[in-house]
Amino acid sequence: MSPLLEVEGLKKHFPIHTGVFSRISGQVYAVDGISFRIDRGETLGLVGESGCGKSTAGRTILKLLEPTAGKIRVRGEDITDLDQDRMLPYRRQMQMIYQDPYASLNPRMSAGEIVSEPLVIHGVGAPKDRRERVAHLFERVGLRPELAKAYPHEFSGGQRQRIGIARALALSPELIVGDEPVSALDVSIQAQIINLLMDLQDEYQLSYLFVAHDLAVVEHISDRVAVMYLGRIVEMTDKTTLFETPLHPYTEALLSAVPIAKYGARDRRRVILTGDVPSPINPPPGCHFHTRCPYVMARCRHEAPPLCEVQSGHWTACHLHDGGVRYPLAKPAEP
Ligand code: SF4
Repeated sequence: MSPLLEVEGLKKHFPIHTGVFSRISGQVYAVDGISFRIDRGETLGLVGESGCGKSTAGRTILKLLEPTAGKIRVRGEDITDLDQDRMLPYRRQMQMIYQDPYASLNPRMSAGEIVSEPLVIHGVGAPKDRRERVAHLFERVGLRPELAKAYPHEFSGGQRQRIGIARALALSPELIVGDEPVSALDVSIQAQIINLLMDLQDEYQLSYLFVAHDLAVVEHISDRVAVMYLGRIVEMTDKTTLFETPLHPYTEALLSAVPIAKYGARDRRRVILTGDVPSPINPPPGCHFHTRCPYVMARCRHEAPPLCEVQSGHWTACHLHDGGVRYPLAKPAEP
């Protein structure tokens, strides 16, 4: 059976225009050839530092941005080149929850109008049916239905995010892309929203692509996790394997910076990354991570490692794992 979502070699490059004639003088390689699948009812966490391309990946998959190359398939149907009209039925199946609950709601619309807007756009139901649907969605996300008349500024951050979730659910989608949906909220509210998302997933068999930089959040909600660095996926596996036995040096560094105690973090070697994330305008050749990697070898500087399945369901893109080399790694190379 086809997965709900399949992404193959997806790229999103943004041209840089300069000069009077607006000539293209370069590209921002925001997403540079990523591949993964998400099954029905599954959550894939997409994690990485800010600027790694994870939010752009989420928007490109929903075709809010046009892909530069690669394929996007929904239930085996190729939607990569569909125009806006032919995308309409797929838009109902794929919705987004945005990061900023303050900026993502139209301040001139009441909460009820915001939640019913997708129903109006897609011509679903009569006005009375829509009002009932909105009342049901409000209850389901933990808001009193009479609040439908209130405006966004009358709600707290957590309540606004609940409105955003109700809006995303309005058309009964199968896939929701959450673009850092809890990172703007207080920690105590984050837990409530994550638990709500997990309850809704059980109830409606939703699939999530959960974009985040916070490893603890990703660990809590995900079934599998993909780690991104400078536009590429460098490691992908189920969450327990990723947190217990990371293979890629970048994942190892991320986990050592934010240890999670239940995965034996105290026993893990501490890896400190030096330098900043290079610019996606001019990413390093070969392995994008070679400028910061403590294990860098000569070939890493010119040969990009492919994403390989090193163990069943455990994918990584690193020359250390060519030919079946396994974690734990040898001593780091001298700088
Ligand atoms: Fe480090 Fe080389 Fe692996 Fe890249 S390919 S992560 S530079 S060892």
